[in-house]
Amino acid sequence: MYSMEAGKPLIKFNHCKRSIYSFGVPGCCPLCREALGSAELANAPVSISNPFTNGHQEKCSFLLRPTQGTFLREYDGKSDLHVGVTNTNGVVYNYNGLGVQQDKTGWEQSLAVPLLQPGMLGLQDQWDRYLEDFSACGAWLPHRYEEDHHNCYSYTLTFINCILATEGKEKLDKSEFTEKYVVPRTRVASKYITLYRAIEEHGFYTVDHAGPEAGPP
Ligand SMILES: [Zn+2]
Repeated sequence: MYSMEAGKPLIKFNHCKRSIYSFGVPGCCPLCREALGSAELANAPVSISNPFTNGHQEKCSFLLRPTQGTFLREYDGKSDLHVGVTNTNGVVYNYNGLGVQQDKTGWEQSLAVPLLQPGMLGLQDQWDRYLEDFSACGAWLPHRYEEDHHNCYSYTLTFINCILATEGKEKLDKSEFTEKYVVPRTRVASKYITLYRAIEEHGFYTVDHAGPEAGPP
């Protein structure tokens, strides 16, 4: 759904044998200036799915966002990311130098990965209790925090591994976690951000149908 935090909605339509991306259907084609009549049903615009969601509306999920700023404005593909886990009310539990935080705001533009398999309702009932007890453990006291080795990733991955163990599944190590939960999301986000910023700058973005780079999201 459209929300200010998630940015303006993106659409794609076809004209001049090209795919044209913009923030809404313009009155005329930005390339040939021909008026875009409503009769051109074959060229009906499609909306491009936005990879960002309001993390406070996601329950029992893993969330990612830039440590500073937002994805659409500040993220450069290398920026530090901060991660956390939501409870069943969208409160984001995350670990930093001040200890475990319970954020009710600040994660409005996040990448989210649901952590509960469908049908795990028993686990969902106990989720908040698990997260609360896990967060109260001494490992996550503020003085234990180390930026490189005992950080928001350590906290989140350890919690996810507790959930996987409860489900009878194998633990993930740090690189498996990054490959499975982080890289696929940031890759999609980076493509979307590139497209979004190009449209912000030029008003539209086009891709040649015959072009080799037919791959924006
Ligand atoms: Zn045109």
